[in-house]
Amino acid sequence: MGVQGEERTIGVYLHIPFCLRKCPYCDFKSIAKPGLTHAEEGAYADALIKELSSVIEREGLSKRPLETIYFGGGTPALLSPPVVKRLVGSVRDAFAVHGKPIEVTIEANPDAVSLERLKGFYEAGVTRISIGVQSLDDRILGTLGRTHTAERAVKAFKEARAAGFENIGLDLIFGVPGQSVEDWEKSVAGLLALDPEHISLYGLTLEEGTGFFKQYKDTKRLPTEDDVAEMYEHAVRALKDAGYRHYGISNWARPGMEAVHNSRYWRSDDYIGCGVAAHSFLSFPEWGRRWWNTPSLEEYIEGVSAKGSAIKGDETLARNESMLESMVLGLRMLERGIKGGCFRARFGLFPKEAFPASEALISEGLVASSGEDLVLTHKGAVLSDSVFLRML
Ligand code: SF4
Repeated sequence: MGVQGEERTIGVYLHIPFCLRKCPYCDFKSIAKPGLTHAEEGAYADALIKELSSVIEREGLSKRPLETIYFGGGTPALLSPPVVKRLVGSVRDAFAVHGKPIEVTIEANPDAVSLERLKGFYEAGVTRISIGVQSLDDRILGTLGRTHTAERAVKAFKEARAAGFENIGLDLIFGVPGQSVEDWEKSVAGLLALDPEHISLYGLTLEEGTGFFKQYKDTKRLPTEDDVAEMYEHAVRALKDAGYRHYGISNWARPGMEAVHNSRYWRSDDYIGCGVAAHSFLSFPEWGRRWWNTPSLEEYIEGVSAKGSAIKGDETLARNESMLESMVLGLRMLERGIKGGCFRARFGLFPKEAFPASEALISEGLVASSGEDLVLTHKGAVLSDSVFLRML
């Protein structure tokens, strides 16, 4: 917030919806496609490039400095390195050249990569890889329906290092059915032994419509709320002791290795999302707007080839909605939080004036204030969902 017009940087998200198979807990838009062909990936990449250029033209964004490219999914590492290279090149060419090197991230599953493939991504211009380890316990990986083993996950990390990556993120999931606090502590210790630059830890949620929801909704196989809180708190302590900065509710990094692309979302910075079900956000005019694409692959390819877009819905934010988003997203940044001066410059009110509930949250130790700035405390981070609800 605060920087105007062409000075404002932009981020690009490319959604790659293909996966080796569907995981039973996942509600992301993904399609099981174990044998993605050259023709299929080529057609999808063509559509992404066409959609991006049509958004840039429609919104007049070509002079914006590009800051990040993020390949998310799905399993983007199923794309072949030449296709990734073509996409990175096309996105870079579509915007003004930035003075700083841009961050290019690809999400990868351990069983979708090999040393050769990882070298290909590195040579294609990818600067950062985020590996979905999920657990270092084969029993838990089996429960999650993952196709890789703990051994394969460790090997994928080592291959990424050998391929040249100096910025590797590893993800784990906690709160899995049948997982004890001790099981979790072992996975965290195993992850720390690898010494990645970035770590994301996500609590499992049962999403309606998934296999897990049907299977576990009414059972006692999920860890208790107390156990889940203990898992998170253990990780907070262990990662702090290991020297990581806890900069987002679910995110830790070595100093200077924070994920730039994710931080863009939290700062309400502009981004274009291309691909099936991708969302875009532009902070102008007035209070900002977003749009999202069709979740159907066929409709997406047809729409983009016919008219350059496959938008399913859009919304223009009102001032109150924009304030609320800035508050909730800003509080996700545990170190930076909400800067009262920036908030007031945009909305004409300090955060405490806009959200009177913040006073009670401060007195309960869930939110801390320094002047007009607000930040979530560690206690608030554990209970973040209820803090955000109470802010409403
Ligand atoms: S690999 Fe990731 S995106 Fe694909 S189904 Fe599994 S959890 Fe979902």
